[in-house]
Amino acid sequence: MAITAVKGFNDILPGEVEKWQYIERTARRIFELYGLSEIRIPILEKTELFCRSIGDATDIVEKEMYSFEDKGENKVTMRPEGTASVMRAFIEHKLYAADPIARLYYMGPMFRYERPQKGRYRQFHQIGVELTGVTAPTVDAQVLTMLSHFFAELGLDEPSLQINSLGCPECRPRYREALKSFLFSRLELLCEDCKRRYETNPLRALDCKSAGCIEATKGAPSMLEYLCADCDDHFSKTKGLLDLVGTRYAINERMVRGLDYYTRTTFEMVTTMLGAQSAVAAGGRYDGLIAELGGPKLPGIGFAMGVERVALLLAEKEFARRPDLFIAFMGEEAQGTAYKLMTDLQRKGASVEMDYEVKSLKSQMRRSDKFNARYTLIIGGDELARGTAPLKNMAAGTQEEVALSAEAIYEQVKKG
Ligand code: ATP
Ligand code: MG
Repeated sequence: MAITAVKGFNDILPGEVEKWQYIERTARRIFELYGLSEIRIPILEKTELFCRSIGDATDIVEKEMYSFEDKGENKVTMRPEGTASVMRAFIEHKLYAADPIARLYYMGPMFRYERPQKGRYRQFHQIGVELTGVTAPTVDAQVLTMLSHFFAELGLDEPSLQINSLGCPECRPRYREALKSFLFSRLELLCEDCKRRYETNPLRALDCKSAGCIEATKGAPSMLEYLCADCDDHFSKTKGLLDLVGTRYAINERMVRGLDYYTRTTFEMVTTMLGAQSAVAAGGRYDGLIAELGGPKLPGIGFAMGVERVALLLAEKEFARRPDLFIAFMGEEAQGTAYKLMTDLQRKGASVEMDYEVKSLKSQMRRSDKFNARYTLIIGGDELARGTAPLKNMAAGTQEEVALSAEAIYEQVKKG
């Protein structure tokens, strides 16, 4: 029996991969407009890093991590997300010494032991952004605007931006208590997970998808009513800046995010097109995380988007690559000429195809159709003798005689 891939681990095949490359290319281009640089972080980290940053009472740490002991009996984990690693690197290499403001992005695979379904896999891919060192709401607004810009650039109407504020260590405990009192008389309605985390992480009930939790949290107090003066001001100014530059958003007071390190501004890019997998990108501020990981007392903000989910939103778009030119040939002498022309043109920067073996003209034209080449050139004995051949523009249906030289052909195919 042939060996198959591990459940929840996917291949990204040619045909699909072009979409991924387009997403990655667009992300790099847009993020660099906003001054970000790429950082590449390892896939394996000490397990402790994620326990300390993400939080013990979160879905990720409680049940989703790919953790094991290596041969040296070190407890390691295949990264379930990027923020902890980027901040670990920021601290380890003292990037803050040169400039407390680091503006970084990363892309790559993440690993979580979840139930595989559409838009949810065990190896999935994120493109993420982290900005450190700025408390001012200008950076919140910029990150959100950049994220919206990225999706607009992909030509998508969905997802749309939702924002909330989770307050800070001063005001959140007050809200936690208020929410706990509210939920106390409704504990029976909560799902098993939320019942269990009532003490450790009661906020999770607000964005739990189980029917009981939705019912139990109806009419729950809103974090926004409990923000301290500073957090309230920070949130108002963030909204003001988004309004100023026309970045559209909606406020979602129930958005709490699943990771412990978030403070103040939190946000999600949500879609209605992927069922329960509605968050395409998510993030927020983490003003305590860097110090928590042993670094300086610096604030941070970031997000990560799921590339698989972005790719699903782009499902309708056509990404197939097409060569500039297909060269058909008749006879061995013409094959040599065609092969030389193809190679010269590729060296100049045109994408060119021809058959690897001598085939009938009919069969070669079928192959050309399959490639959907923009131009075709047919070379036989007569063409060799006159030193020119007909170059057909496939879309226009027009045909022109060109010299059998790479320069002349290049000029024609790159013109159209
Ligand atoms: P969800 O609520 O869908 O589980 P999450 O809150 O766990 O998402 P984050 O940890 O914030 O997600 O990760 C950011 C993004 O990464 C998500 O918005 C989503 O697009 C993507 N993502 C998270 N988990 C998976 C997964 N198992 N498979 C595919 N994409 C994922
Ligand atoms: Mg999750």
